[in-house]
Amino acid sequence: MLKFELVPVTHFQQNCSVVWCSETNQAALIDPGGEPERIMQVVERLKLTVVAIWLTHGHLDHVGASNALAKTLKVDVIGPHKDDEFWLKALPEQSKMMGFAAHDALAPTRWLNDGDTLSLGNLTFSVLHCPGHTPGHVVLFEPNSKMAFVGDVIFAGSVGRTDFPRSNSQQLIDSIREKLWPLGDDVKFVPGHGPMSTFGQERRVNPFVADARFG
Ligand SMILES: [Zn+2]
Ligand SMILES: [Zn+2]
Repeated sequence: MLKFELVPVTHFQQNCSVVWCSETNQAALIDPGGEPERIMQVVERLKLTVVAIWLTHGHLDHVGASNALAKTLKVDVIGPHKDDEFWLKALPEQSKMMGFAAHDALAPTRWLNDGDTLSLGNLTFSVLHCPGHTPGHVVLFEPNSKMAFVGDVIFAGSVGRTDFPRSNSQQLIDSIREKLWPLGDDVKFVPGHGPMSTFGQERRVNPFVADARFG
């Protein structure tokens, strides 16, 4: 069974998700954006064995602790899609722009593609490529628990910014409506920032992507 705990990190209160398989205690860290010591405290308290770091996209507030944690835990960094490589190469510049401590560029051991799967103990996550906020953004979905980890694609009541280089607002709306909605109204999601919601709730009330907007 999938279990998870959220650890909001950095001054952007980015949701790092510690996710694990309750039968094996194997864990993955989704979007460890900063404060590696706090994330490690959660891992140790829950007595988990971290086997990988998974990234939804290349923005610093989602990846900032990846290098440090990969080294401490001796695990691979997996994702996002290769189209976000330019963001990961620009981490030193992103650090200055966002008021973070200097950060080295990051090179994941594996890029993700639409339709890939990720194993974690007895769990299997599917990978959906959802460009728009960034061109290489991915969403990670675990079908048995109907849980999606969506990064900055969609939030409770909002959607990801599209004023960055290579962002595309129409593509973002298409990703949400064509890739996420078919997963089901009852899917719960953890966004990159803020509280959880369900796709059904957002289809009713989200001013950017509610069904009513599209007739
Ligand atoms: Zn972002
Ligand atoms: Zn973010």
